[in-house]
Amino acid sequence: MKRSIKQHIGVVLLSVLGMVLPFDPTTVQAATSVNPALSHAIKRHLPDWLKLYKHLHSHPELSYHEKETAGKLASHLQRLGFEVSTQLGGHGIVGVLRNGEGPTILMRTDLDALPIVEETGVPYASKVKTNDDAGTEVGVMHACGHDIHMSVWTGTTQLLTEMKDQWKGTLVAIGQPAEEKGAGAKAMLDDGLFEKFPVPDAAIALHVNAQTPSGTVGYVSGFALANVDSVNITLRGVGGHGAYPHTTRDPVVLAAQVVLALQTIVSREVDATQPAVVTIGSIHGGTKHNIIPNEVKLQLTLRSYTDEVRQTLIESIKRIVKGQAEAAGIPGDLMPIVELDDVFTPATYNDPDLMRLVISSLNKAIGEENVFELNPVMGGEDFGRYGRTEHKVPVCMLWLGAVDPKQHERFLKGEIKLPSLHSSQFAPLPETTIQTGVAAMTQTLLDLFQSKP
Ligand SMILES: [Zn+2]
Ligand SMILES: [Zn+2]
Repeated sequence: MKRSIKQHIGVVLLSVLGMVLPFDPTTVQAATSVNPALSHAIKRHLPDWLKLYKHLHSHPELSYHEKETAGKLASHLQRLGFEVSTQLGGHGIVGVLRNGEGPTILMRTDLDALPIVEETGVPYASKVKTNDDAGTEVGVMHACGHDIHMSVWTGTTQLLTEMKDQWKGTLVAIGQPAEEKGAGAKAMLDDGLFEKFPVPDAAIALHVNAQTPSGTVGYVSGFALANVDSVNITLRGVGGHGAYPHTTRDPVVLAAQVVLALQTIVSREVDATQPAVVTIGSIHGGTKHNIIPNEVKLQLTLRSYTDEVRQTLIESIKRIVKGQAEAAGIPGDLMPIVELDDVFTPATYNDPDLMRLVISSLNKAIGEENVFELNPVMGGEDFGRYGRTEHKVPVCMLWLGAVDPKQHERFLKGEIKLPSLHSSQFAPLPETTIQTGVAAMTQTLLDLFQSKP
């Protein structure tokens, strides 16, 4: 019999905090090094994981094209004795390792890279060029660190296989495609991830952080990453000669009014304690100085945490755009078209009960002094989707520090700026980052597997 998730988390919480690993937050001593059993195994394998990392880094593949990458991870899982399925939701892979009665935990890595020409100058930099889906030649680069995620995921599956006598349960290790399109998690779920494979009691993942030092892990309890929506607006008017504007209905002036009017949604309509963003990232209309065009197109990104704020943003945009068009005298049959993109990335809500457990594991794995609480951000990540099915799986995504600590110190002194994720110059420090990630993930999974359902 499967327990309810809440019951299950309760049991894990008891067993980790009470019976298995006595832990009192007021008396716990800061650990000073990586758990010795783990650090020994990690040292032994690190050269192989670094080799894998450098290979993945120099052979990146764009979203929906992660064929070789998925194949490499699938054969790694096969060698370790996982039951492996491929081609779930595109190039998604699922490895299941059954190790007796116990909780089912899902660990996710993403697989895809970005259309960016790499400018890091590292010896293993990507030189890959390809055509994107529109047929334009682009460079390809792991500028979001998904190659680090895959290396950590590989290392963690390896250690958990070797440490099978220390845990009981079922590990579901998934390689998710198309994260950068916000589509891969949905594609894997739509293709039967929770029907064809064991439904997890918890799901965990990590993402590199381009602002925090390698050797550390950051966490956010509750909302950590935002809902992401894309909206396309077509403002229609009646075009004509630029010298006779009174004979037209000018969509350029209307667009200017709309851009400013939309600013009032966040400032006047959303509760000031609730985060929200409305950004108009693209505006295009017209062809020439003296022609008033027939239409202007706008592209917006919307960010929010709660479903309620998300709905407010969408409904207010529709209302304001229509109202502005009416005020501009646009004919009724030319009212604006407001389209919400189908690809919606839901917010990542890190389950607070699960996060409490994970924090105690992190403290054990890498030392309390290397574990930090971070602020939530309005960026998006589709990992949150695994927690939004009817199964209500508690999810937890961690931030893995990736910046060379020496560079980070210079950054703190204001001497340098750090390249962000998706920058052509983002170069994580692989050794300590992978080592820290594997220690953090392995310890967390070992602890989550401690309770017997
Ligand atoms: Zn990214
Ligand atoms: Zn990413």
